[in-house]
Amino acid sequence: MRPEALHSLFAEVETLEGVGPKLKRPLERLGLARIKDVAYHLPDRFVERRAVPDLDEAGVGENIVIALTVREHRASSGRGPFRVLAEDGKGNICALTYFGRASYSARKALPVGERRWVAGRLDQYGQMLQIVHPEHVSEDSAAPLGHLREPIYPLSEGLTQGRIASLVAQALKALPDLPEWSDPALVEKRGWPDWDDALRIAHREKSEAALDRLAFDELLANSLALMLVRASNRAQRGTPLTGDGHLRDKLALPFALTGAQVRSIGEIEGDLAQDAPMLRLLQGDVGSGKTIVALQAMLVAVEAGAQAALLAPTEILARQHHATLMKMARGTGVEIALLTGRDKGRARESVLMGLLDGSIQIIVGTHAIFQDTVEYRNLALVVIDEQHRFGVGQRLMLARKGRRTPHTLAMTATPIPRTLTLAQYGEMEVSRLDELPPGRQPIDTRVVAIERMDDVVSAVARHLEAGAQAYWVCPMVRDNESDDLAAAEARYAALKERFGDDVVLVHGQLRPEAKDAAMERFATGAAKLLVATTVIEVGVDVPNATLIVIEQAERFGLAQLHQLRGRVGRGEGKSVCLLLRGNTLSETARQRLALMRETQDGFRLAEEDLELRGGGELLGTRQSGDTPFRIADLEQIQRLLPVAHDDARLLLERSGGAGLSGERGEAARLLLYLFERDWGVQLLRGG
Ligand code: ADP
Ligand code: MG
Repeated sequence: MRPEALHSLFAEVETLEGVGPKLKRPLERLGLARIKDVAYHLPDRFVERRAVPDLDEAGVGENIVIALTVREHRASSGRGPFRVLAEDGKGNICALTYFGRASYSARKALPVGERRWVAGRLDQYGQMLQIVHPEHVSEDSAAPLGHLREPIYPLSEGLTQGRIASLVAQALKALPDLPEWSDPALVEKRGWPDWDDALRIAHREKSEAALDRLAFDELLANSLALMLVRASNRAQRGTPLTGDGHLRDKLALPFALTGAQVRSIGEIEGDLAQDAPMLRLLQGDVGSGKTIVALQAMLVAVEAGAQAALLAPTEILARQHHATLMKMARGTGVEIALLTGRDKGRARESVLMGLLDGSIQIIVGTHAIFQDTVEYRNLALVVIDEQHRFGVGQRLMLARKGRRTPHTLAMTATPIPRTLTLAQYGEMEVSRLDELPPGRQPIDTRVVAIERMDDVVSAVARHLEAGAQAYWVCPMVRDNESDDLAAAEARYAALKERFGDDVVLVHGQLRPEAKDAAMERFATGAAKLLVATTVIEVGVDVPNATLIVIEQAERFGLAQLHQLRGRVGRGEGKSVCLLLRGNTLSETARQRLALMRETQDGFRLAEEDLELRGGGELLGTRQSGDTPFRIADLEQIQRLLPVAHDDARLLLERSGGAGLSGERGEAARLLLYLFERDWGVQLLRGG
């Protein structure tokens, strides 16, 4: 299906010379599966190296290339480094220093008596000049030492700079000639190179024009795909739903809705009444009351004689949602059922029957509710509790059951800034719950130095003795790459010593059943302290948990901290959040933690986080995870996304609104495939 022009780019990395089974995993870890991924694996930075005739000419701290003659191998006793003493033409000595395993290959590459070209950073160690782990050692002065400016690529264990550089060189040779997809006037005005030149330049030097062009391509692909989804959605037939309110009137709510809830419900009602299926995002902080809004929407569907489904990301959340909805909707007489992967046999059969004959009006569940074996009488609304981080493509697939496309309401508690909302959910209309229900007590948030661990554990002990529950969040489960991260397993062991069976551990590498079981022990109160990696982000609701400890808080993004903190403060009691911090904090990290203390407003935190990061320490680094982009960084997103948006709109208008035609339209199709946003193209075909 993929256009022929892109075949070479989509060839697997194994087709490159020098890639065997041993490199496959390290490459995978960097996300390099295809030639195009390698071509887009851009350097983090460049080092300038100066070729120097002798050590007298080199400064300490400088990156140099120099010819040296090997004089002596000096192995150390015990765990010390392996040193190779080498001499320049003037009799100056420099140590080439290797730690650990690297010494084996050094021994071979640097035989005594031989002359070698060595590239690296010159340091001083006591009285001695040294180069620690030279970046290159070669017999040949031409390559790769001839390059005085060298790209430094992101690596993973098992890869070297030299290896990546060689793969990149091969990938760049395979670049096809592609037609221009961006507005030629824009390209000219900004002085952007062609696509393939931009890639070549970006591997060679830090060129703003080239990097901007590549980022722009990605942003354009994204905007275009989202607009295509919107356009095709407008052309779909859904089921217009108008309710007469007879069920909603029977909801006996113990509180008055907030203004934001009323507004959002109104917006949803307006969409549901249309022919075209709704595509709407309900964005609201933890505790802002999304559930009641979702229930009202589902009741509109039921009032109109149709069925509604609520999709939860996990088994336990599905059950929590089910219980909550049952309680809220008790007076309405609406039939609400639960279906998860765990349900088997008779129970499952009876739910399937109920969905088919329409006696079940609202279904709550995990992915199981969209399996092929599940048939609906008339499903007209799907609510997705979006902690899934669904891609747009997946979101669309869900909605394609049945003859008519159901309305979709996605809910997210992730407070993301407006620009990123546009990038991530640009195909949707947005309703924001920007107001918390009245009477919420702010969570008492404190920043505590890690040295005070004993005090923190005592505080937890007092808390548990008082009958409340607590969370303890660790950044990551131990893996060999990151010993310095607090290991959840080690912490769990330590806390277990103190608190015994009251403690449970949950982390991402547990089997789902084991994870659910542990979560459940906590949710039912059988366990008092939940030690977890960030998996608890996926909103469990335990009102009795009123203390949360977050270790190495400076390692989390603000939005993430905020969401974690939102696990507490759900009940009547006063809640406390302890942010444990390391000793060495950057200025930005300090500001971010201070901001956490200062405000509970998720939207504000998200905007400020973007400010701090966009203008601060992470400038120029591509984020993984918190944006849908691999090439464009936060600063580029802010600066170029509006431009890309306009260009995408222009392109669609020129193509006559719905499709992608003409020369630029054809080129843009290639772009969509290139960035794997071809779901937009699939929709064009009416798929
Ligand atoms: P979210 O899913 O957005 O995190 P929930 O829907 O779980 O939030 O609501 C959090 C709590 O607030 C629930 O206990 C809910 O009953 C309550 N709640 C919702 N809306 C209101 C309101 N308008 N006034 C008071 N309490 C409310
Ligand atoms: Mg919720």
